[in-house]
Amino acid sequence: MVDRYRRGLVAAGGVFAATALGAPALAAGAASQERKIGYAVVGLGGYGLGIIIPQFKNCRRSRLVALVSGDPAKARRVAAEYGVPERNLYDYKNFDAIRDNPDIDVVYVCLPVSMHAEYTIRAARAGKHVMCEKPMAVSSAECERMIAACKEAGKKLMIGYRCHFEPNNLEAIRRARAGEIGKLRYFRSEHGFVAGNPSAWRLKKAMSGGGSLMDIGIYALNAARYMTGEEPVAVYATERTDRSDPRFREVEDMIEFELEFPSGVLGSCMSMYSANRNQILLMGERGRIELEPATSYRGIRLRVGSGAGEEITPPPGPGATMWAGQLDHLAECIVQNRTPIVAGEEGLRDIRIIEAVYQSARERRRIVLRA
Ligand code: NAD
Repeated sequence: MVDRYRRGLVAAGGVFAATALGAPALAAGAASQERKIGYAVVGLGGYGLGIIIPQFKNCRRSRLVALVSGDPAKARRVAAEYGVPERNLYDYKNFDAIRDNPDIDVVYVCLPVSMHAEYTIRAARAGKHVMCEKPMAVSSAECERMIAACKEAGKKLMIGYRCHFEPNNLEAIRRARAGEIGKLRYFRSEHGFVAGNPSAWRLKKAMSGGGSLMDIGIYALNAARYMTGEEPVAVYATERTDRSDPRFREVEDMIEFELEFPSGVLGSCMSMYSANRNQILLMGERGRIELEPATSYRGIRLRVGSGAGEEITPPPGPGATMWAGQLDHLAECIVQNRTPIVAGEEGLRDIRIIEAVYQSARERRRIVLRA
C-alpha cells in the first residue's frame, strides 16, 4: 500500500507534487539521523489532543516538544503521557515566551477558528513556523494578515489540509489526471455531520466564522479544486436553515453550492450540520471516480468505474498516516526551505470562495470570482 501511495504521490500533478508523505527524496536512514523538527501544539481539544498529538509517534521528521493550554492540570497530564518536559508547558498569557525556546520550531494552531489569526501571527512574531488548522480564519482579510506576518518573519505557514496526504485521495487525483475516466464533466460532493450542543463554539458565528460550510463543507470545496485541478470562476448557492432550531440561531445548517470551472466542469457541493454524509464523485466522459467515505479519519474507500469494469481500492492500512505525512511535510519544507503544498495561500483561496458562496446565498445571485 505504501508503495502504491508513493507512486501516486510522484505521479499526481498540481499541488500534489512529489513532496508529500513518503516522498522518497529522503532515504529513511538519513532522515532518522537528522534532528527532528519540534512542534508546540496549541489547544488540547478534540483535534489537537485526540488526533494530532498521538500522531507524532508515526512521524519520521517531527516530534512533539511543547504544549500550550489554558488548563495547567491537563497540560501536565498530557505532558507526562507524551514525554514533554514541564519547562515546555505554556498558557495563553505567556505564549510569546516560546520565542526563547529553541526546542520549538513550529506552532500547530488547534484552536477555535476565530483564534487562528491571533496565534498564527504571535507565533510568527516569536520566530516560529506555523501549522494552522482549517478553515484558515474567519475572513479572507485575516488570512491575508496571517500570510503577511509569516512572510515578514521569514517563516513557513501551512494549513492542516490532511486529505492532501491521504493515499486514496491522492490515487483518485492521479487517475483523474492520467485521463482514466476521460474528459472531466461533473464533480459532486456531500459533506455533513449532525451538530450537537447549541453552545459549542462551532455554532457561534463570532468564533467559527460560519456554519457547516466553514467546518465540513470546506472539504467538499477543497476537493472540488484538487480533484478537477482547476479554480472555480463563479459560484451559485442556496441556503436552507431552520432558524427555530437552537443550534442554528447564528450559523447555517444546509448550504448547497455550484462551482463553475473554466473547462466546463460543473461542481455541485452540499454541506450540512443535520445529516451524516462524506462522499466525493468525479464523472468523466468514460467513467467515474468515487470516494466514500472520502475525507473521514479512517476507512476511505476508492471506487473507479470505467469501460473496463469497476475497481475498488480498500482503505489504507495503519502506519504511514495522512497526519504523519502532513506533519513531516512541513518539517521537510523547513529543512529544505521549500513552500508547503498547502501553504497559507491555499487556505486563503478557500476562504475567498466561501465568502462568495455566502454572498451568493444572501443575495440569491451568481457571483463571479476574481482570478
Ligand atoms: P475543540 O473545541 O475540541 O478544542 C478547542 C481547544 O481550544 C480546546 O482545548 C479549548 O480549551 C481551546 N480554547 C482556547 N480558548 C478557547 C475559547 N475561547 N473557546 C473555546 N475553546 C478554547 O475543537 P476542535 O475540534 O479540536 O477544533 C480545533 C480546530 O481544529 C478548529 O480549527 C477545527 O476546525 C480544526 N479541526 C480540524 C479537523 C481536521 O480533520 N483537520 C478536525 C477537527 C477539528
